Amino acid sequence: MWSNDEFLGDGEERAASCLELFATVPGAKDWQKKLAELSKTTVLPAASELTLSAFSLIRGGDLFERTGAKIAKTPASLLETYADKQLRLVKNGAAKEEQEAAMRGVLRVLRGNAALVKRMLIAKPVSVVIIPKDHDYRPYGFPRNTNPNAAGIFWNSAKTDVALLGLREELILEKAHLMVHEMTHAVHFLAFTKKEREDIDRFLLPVYRNRRWVDEAVAIYAERAFGARYAEEELRQPDLYGKTRRDWNDQQVFSKFIAELMRP
Ligand SMILES: [Zn+2]
Repeated sequence: MWSNDEFLGDGEERAASCLELFATVPGAKDWQKKLAELSKTTVLPAASELTLSAFSLIRGGDLFERTGAKIAKTPASLLETYADKQLRLVKNGAAKEEQEAAMRGVLRVLRGNAALVKRMLIAKPVSVVIIPKDHDYRPYGFPRNTNPNAAGIFWNSAKTDVALLGLREELILEKAHLMVHEMTHAVHFLAFTKKEREDIDRFLLPVYRNRRWVDEAVAIYAERAFGARYAEEELRQPDLYGKTRRDWNDQQVFSKFIAELMRP
């Protein structure tokens, strides 16, 4: 059986590289130039293009508070620009079918909300690393505390310029939710501001008790939002992975948050 426990024992902790979009410090607005360049426009984007209205749902305010603005679907050209400039596929000999499914799978997470892809365009780049059957993650740049049997891994360290998104070759075609899970970690760790991450912690920590499980819960809620089809054993897992997958329903506030955020 495949494990989801991504890290074991002690070691460097997975780090967040937060975006500082709304800061007033010098240089904080460089993202506008970068984004304009990448989108091939001379008009500097407004901060409102990166606003994530979903956060109003978990900020303890009115649950029904909505901005009224319709969320813009991501234009295909912008998604292509992102894949081209910010995603690198490390194939490691995988077949074309797996390569394409891996890329399609991770990009699905950004397809519903243009603000997310714009944020990922100015965030840290990601290497999608296909791990060959029966291989360990560690020779491919993942840290020593990586669980060698994990189905997928998202790894980010403050010491590197690129984050890593590892996918087990033999599971790519079988488990569509694997790509959603790991790419949601990428969004959570790279595309949110510090304040937004704190908002999520404040909302989920009373239930999940620790940081690591908060991170996993965010990714599992996304799996479900994108219609994950689980194997029986994944639902029966005795840990919080199994419990979160089993207990999820679309009426929970956090389910509505993810639905509003990602528009699956
Ligand atoms: Zn995870």
